[in-house]
Amino acid sequence: IKRNPGEPEFHQAVHEVAESVIPFILDNVRYREAGILERMTEPDRSVIFRVVWEDDEGNIRVNRGFRVQFNNAIGPYKGGLRFHPTVNLSILKFLGFEQTFKNSLTTLPIGSGKGGSDFNPKGKSDREIMRFCQSFMTELYHHIGPNTDVPAGDIGVGAREISYLFGQYKRLTGEFTGALTGKGIEFGGSLIRTEATGWGAAFFMQAMLAHRGDSVEGKTCVLSGSGNVALYCAQKLMQLGAKVVTLSDSSGFIHDANGLDEDKLHWLIDLKTRRRGRIREYAEHVGCQYHEGTRPWGVPCDLAFPCAVQNELDQQDARTLAVNGCQAVAEGANMPTTVEAIKVLHDAGVLFGPGKAANAGGVAVSGMEMSQNSIRMAWGAEELEHRLRDIMNGIHDQCVHYGENGELVNYVRGANVAGFRKVADAMLAYGAI
Ligand code: NDP
Repeated sequence: IKRNPGEPEFHQAVHEVAESVIPFILDNVRYREAGILERMTEPDRSVIFRVVWEDDEGNIRVNRGFRVQFNNAIGPYKGGLRFHPTVNLSILKFLGFEQTFKNSLTTLPIGSGKGGSDFNPKGKSDREIMRFCQSFMTELYHHIGPNTDVPAGDIGVGAREISYLFGQYKRLTGEFTGALTGKGIEFGGSLIRTEATGWGAAFFMQAMLAHRGDSVEGKTCVLSGSGNVALYCAQKLMQLGAKVVTLSDSSGFIHDANGLDEDKLHWLIDLKTRRRGRIREYAEHVGCQYHEGTRPWGVPCDLAFPCAVQNELDQQDARTLAVNGCQAVAEGANMPTTVEAIKVLHDAGVLFGPGKAANAGGVAVSGMEMSQNSIRMAWGAEELEHRLRDIMNGIHDQCVHYGENGELVNYVRGANVAGFRKVADAMLAYGAI
């Protein structure tokens, strides 16, 4: 805490991992002697830079850009870019740290990083977004590359922003290389990348339930968020026979007791990606309930999927979920459940899939986008979905291997220890660097 003052999100993420891996390190003296955990909690480097751009009225605007290159022991730095007014070093360090374990769990050769800006894309015109992205990349391109660091999207950075960023990268370097993932299909993107995080979370939940002889079929699901992760998580859950009854944004949540269907989902995808509207409009469209200023965790459900933002599910929410009979929670977002809430869920016997395991599907398909770019080939959607499902099942099995604890698997410990081991062994092999 003294070394990293004012970084509460980073402390929270490290605390959670340390709790699981310290007992494992104590049993493995070589990790302790080599100071592996101390090294893993210090990013390789953090780059902070000024981003100057001009708005539509001709005013000069200044934002702050970041890239935290956390760990490249097992592959090039890899992790998303977030554009949101709350972005700061603490948030990006927590996300980059988590990414180390997540990327390791995928079994793909990818290291960890995270970046972004305190730029707020909300209410900006397309041209303003383009000018901002071009200015942001004019500095970032010095630090990234297909074998160095490969950023992707995150909150506020979707297909449109990645396209502007990649166009500028290509212009500045004069090279067409896979230095970003999440690209358009026409210029090196991978099929199912858009869907991958949400689909992966649904597959992970399916794997957790299958492990205890159950399935998502027929279950009532409560989701938060209505962005990239939430919408495609809802889609896959519906395809697997579940009923999705809520979605949200930072203003409130909708409760559609009849459940979403493919038509409603298509309408929503258009609302969120093309028209950039608010979730409230869905309630007006289908005639269901809308609750302003609250979160959906009070709606009775079998399964819950926090898919919006960090710390959006607290102790009280966890108690409510448990009392209402919720059987399992899978994190689509990064660290949406507070430490206290995780404890409540564990104590109540609710299965809990942490984000670094449950939402690793996005970065897994990003890793596959890198492979496709390297061999200059594109795999089909069916093959990619098959690989994604295999990776999510593989992550589940690693969690069980290290987290089995009587009746209830401790997926937090399983994910942390399994993710830690691979990176730690690579760092040990390199010696003291
Ligand atoms: P999007 O920008 O597509 O959507 C974010 C959603 O979260 C929006 O509905 C947004 O509502 C809502 N939201 C944002 N801030 C808050 C807040 N303070 N309170 C309540 N709701 C909020 O982002 P993604 O769907 O890509 O990302 C969601 C989460 O998933 C993040 O934690 C991200 O790090 C994580 N993740 C994403 C991956 C990906 O592939 N995209 C991969 C792995 C993890 P509003 O429009 O009102 O802001």
